[in-house]
Amino acid sequence: MKTQPIKSQTPAEMLLRKGIQPTLQRLRVLEDLRARRDHPTVEDIYRELKPRIPTLSKATVYNTLSLFAAKGLVRELSIEDRELRYDSVTEDHGHFKCMACGSIHDFGFSFESLEIRGLEGFAVVDERLFFKGICPVCRGQETGGAEMELGLAEAETGLAEMKKADRG
Ligand code: ZN
Ligand code: MN
Repeated sequence: MKTQPIKSQTPAEMLLRKGIQPTLQRLRVLEDLRARRDHPTVEDIYRELKPRIPTLSKATVYNTLSLFAAKGLVRELSIEDRELRYDSVTEDHGHFKCMACGSIHDFGFSFESLEIRGLEGFAVVDERLFFKGICPVCRGQETGGAEMELGLAEAETGLAEMKKADRG
């Protein structure tokens, strides 16, 4: 499912287009989420906005993000149980979670190019690609995006080495 480019729209226009009344709190939540790439939790956004919006409650942030997700404005990301995060990037992309620092990184791929076997006859309602491992910073080699190519097996080797290093 491809969405139209929305870069030229203001946050208020984005909300109105989805039939959402652009209240101040909703605008701030949307702006904050779109300004960051760290896939924040409700708590993260609440802590960021609370000093500027004293009347803000955590429930409002949660309800606002749920509404946005239901309207397709943002994506909910349940990378691990009990850890619901939000993503303003709604195009298909995968996520890599660093097991050492907990950071979550985007990577590109296309579902069309994936060769999937064994799901003939199944109706797929949700597609996600999630890798776990160790990020370049935590591996002690800040080589940037190229490291994102690293596969799960290699990432786990990296973790095993780290644990060995911790013990030794
Ligand atoms: Zn890391
Ligand atoms: Mn993402």
